[in-house]
Amino acid sequence: MTGTAHNVDPGEIEKFEKLAGRWWDPNSEFKPLHDINPLRLDYIDRLAPLAGKRVIDVGCGGGLLTEGMAARGADVTGIDMGKTPLSVARLHQHESGLAIDYQQTTAEQVASEQPGSFDIVTCLEMLEHVPNPATSIAACAALVKDDGRVFFSTINRNPKAYLFAVIGAEYLLQLLPRGTHDYTKFIRPSEMEGWAREAGLQLTDLSGMSYNPLTREYTLGKDVSVNYLACFQKA
Ligand code: SAH
Repeated sequence: MTGTAHNVDPGEIEKFEKLAGRWWDPNSEFKPLHDINPLRLDYIDRLAPLAGKRVIDVGCGGGLLTEGMAARGADVTGIDMGKTPLSVARLHQHESGLAIDYQQTTAEQVASEQPGSFDIVTCLEMLEHVPNPATSIAACAALVKDDGRVFFSTINRNPKAYLFAVIGAEYLLQLLPRGTHDYTKFIRPSEMEGWAREAGLQLTDLSGMSYNPLTREYTLGKDVSVNYLACFQKA
C-alpha cells in the first residue's frame, strides 16, 4: 500500500469507522445514502446495464450500492480503506447471500494490479473525502475497460450546497453528524470534468439529486447545484 497510501486521509477513514455499525440502519446517519440508493442504482443501470458486468465499487463503505448492483446481476468487487465498514459489508453480505468480493485497498492499488479490467467503475460519495480527488479519478479511469463506463457522485461547491449539505443536513435536520463534510472539499462539476479529461475520460451525462426538505425526498433531475452524479467513458 506504500506507494498509494498518500491519497487516503486517515481522519476521514476514522469518521466512517466510528459510524459503520449503523450503516444498514435506514434511520441512522446513513439515511441520506439509503434514500438516494434506488435513484443512483436506476441511474447506473440505465446508462450502463449492470446484469453480467464486471464492476468495481470504489469506497464501497458498508455496501449499500455494492449489494444493489450485485442484486441486479453484476459481478462486483467492493473496495474501501475502512476496516469496520468492510466488516459490516461482509456481515450483511452473508445475510443477503450475494456474491461480492470485498477488499481493503485503494483504487490506485487495484489500478496498478488490474488495469482496464472492469466494465463499470463506481466511486460515489467518496471524492469529497480524499486528499487528492484527481488521483482517485485517474485511478478509476485506469480501472475501466475501453468501452466501459465510470460513475462519480459528490457535492457541488457553492453557497446553496453549503446551506443544504452542511448547515441543513448537519445542523438543522441533523441528518449527519457535524463535521461529516468539509465544504472546501466539495467539487464543482467543471472541476470533476477537468480532472476526468486529464485522465482520458469524457462526460456522457451529468444529473442532479435534489433533496426536498418538505417532502424529505430526493429526486433525480437537471439541478446539479448540490448533489450530483456523473457518467464518463473513455475519450
Ligand atoms: N460509496 C458508498 C460509501 C460512501 S462513504 C456509498 O455511496 O454508499 C465514503 C467511503 O469512502 C467510506 O466508507 C470511507 O471509508 C471510504 N474512503 C475514503 N477514502 C478512501 C480511499 N482513499 N480509498 C478507499 N476508500 C475510501
